[in-house]
Amino acid sequence: MKPLAAALFILAAAVAVTAGSRLAHNDAINTVDKSAVLMGTFVNIKVPVTDGLSRADAAAAIDKAMDEIRRVERLFSVYMDDSEISRLNRAKKGEAVKIEEEAFSLIERSADFSLATDGAFDITVKPLVDLWSEARRSGKVPSDEEVRSARSRVGFRDLILDRGERTVAFGKDAMALDMGAVAKGYAADMAARTLAENGVRNAIVGCGGDMRCLGVRSPGKGWKVGIRHPRDKGRTFMDIVLSDAAVDTSGDYEKFFIAGGRRFSHIIDPRTGYPAEGAVSATVVSDDSVTSDAFATALCVLGSEGLRRLADTGPGGAIIISYKNGGLSIDTTKGFKERYHAIKTADIR
Ligand code: AMP
Ligand code: MG
Repeated sequence: MKPLAAALFILAAAVAVTAGSRLAHNDAINTVDKSAVLMGTFVNIKVPVTDGLSRADAAAAIDKAMDEIRRVERLFSVYMDDSEISRLNRAKKGEAVKIEEEAFSLIERSADFSLATDGAFDITVKPLVDLWSEARRSGKVPSDEEVRSARSRVGFRDLILDRGERTVAFGKDAMALDMGAVAKGYAADMAARTLAENGVRNAIVGCGGDMRCLGVRSPGKGWKVGIRHPRDKGRTFMDIVLSDAAVDTSGDYEKFFIAGGRRFSHIIDPRTGYPAEGAVSATVVSDDSVTSDAFATALCVLGSEGLRRLADTGPGGAIIISYKNGGLSIDTTKGFKERYHAIKTADIR
């Protein structure tokens, strides 16, 4: 293997085992299967070759879906200076920036998720994400004053959206957006749409922990997805079975750091400015990956309390792992196990 290919392979393997939801062992099926490292994560698309779809057509459709993910990345990446989001993030307070319809729509949906989660989900969290990312690099926990200062630049209520003009403006100084909690979900949805537009009826798209299923893996059999054990990356604790649905898992085991015996998650509670402590991990099943992605992040902030509150109005189903009485404990929305044919694969404690 060439050095670059070898490096990519190692990165892909490392990312694959850390992803929160992943394809479980499914019976041997004849599939076209392709992987790539995109959006800083491991992307995998599998298409079963059944009823008339040739391997060449399946492969061509997957290539188009991968291109679609690259296109989404160019819209939302904060690591690319010319993305729509980076362009917006350079705006001064009060400056209305016209942006592409697609980016506007995802920002609009994100604002709705903020309302639905009482601000636990908030794409204006970037100043705090930057502060805590720096802390992860330096190993030094920021002072309360530094947290307060970054926190004062955060708040979805100060994001001014004008649907008619398709503009976004910041109501406070030095605000900025981070779409990291929904962009991979959006990419998975768009990849699934591209596959469908190219004649694919059954597929599974994995974009990091976001899994989006189209149809079934074989007639009468849904896609089996494993949910990662949050303290043992090599194991799953539950398999669920899905068709035409999306599942995503967020957890405190990604990009975390430990200082003074405390674990600091990469998910921030925008209301306090400190890393979320609501849950160890949260898994959400819904009809689309954007919804699963947003609520999985939000539930890491809200914890089991959020599960109860969102059960009626939120997505299809959710699982929360949190510490109770000194051990890990599982909480699910009512009827979750029956609805998704959940099979326990390991003990959680
Ligand atoms: P996810 O892995 O989908 O849970 O997304 C986590 C990423 O979203 C983080 O790395 C941050 O970039 C960003 N983020 C952190 N906290 C929040 C939050 N409370 N609401 C929205 N985005 C967040
Ligand atoms: Mg998310």
